[in-house]
Amino acid sequence: SQRTLVLLKPDTVRRGLVGEVLGRFEAKGLRIVAMDLRTIDADLADQHYAEHVDKGFYPPLRDFVTSGPLVAMVLEGDEAIEVIRALNGATDGRKAAPGTIRGDLSLSNRENLVHGSDSEESASREIKLWFPDLP
Ligand code: ATP
Repeated sequence: SQRTLVLLKPDTVRRGLVGEVLGRFEAKGLRIVAMDLRTIDADLADQHYAEHVDKGFYPPLRDFVTSGPLVAMVLEGDEAIEVIRALNGATDGRKAAPGTIRGDLSLSNRENLVHGSDSEESASREIKLWFPDLP
């Protein structure tokens, strides 16, 4: 079994879709190991998106992820990293396949509702960053 970091970004909270999105993860069989509603500062955003801080799309992305409360969580399950990225769908909601979270619910490549760690290394780094006290 594998653990991964999932964010329900501020658009999910603002649009009242926390239940809808979390329900899909729960229905799939993933278990919630930790969960927290919080508004993050630019410093945490920069650390989380370290690989993107120099890209042109980053400043508006930072504004977006710090714009209001998000739900951070650690989910656990068999092949959780790959399973969650499949449930999330392609980055750009306009291109994501119907049936995926982004494909069904987002029309944006920035405000795309969810984040899921993209590898075991990222999951381990991101879980430590967001939930340093989690055993
Ligand atoms: P995430 O890492 O959030 O699960 P991802 O792996 O599908 O998404 P990345 O390429 O890692 O996508 O980009 C991280 C986030 O940056 C995206 O989820 C999206 O919110 C934003 N983003 C990526 N590319 C663009 C872009 N061209 N324009 C605007 N925002 C973008």
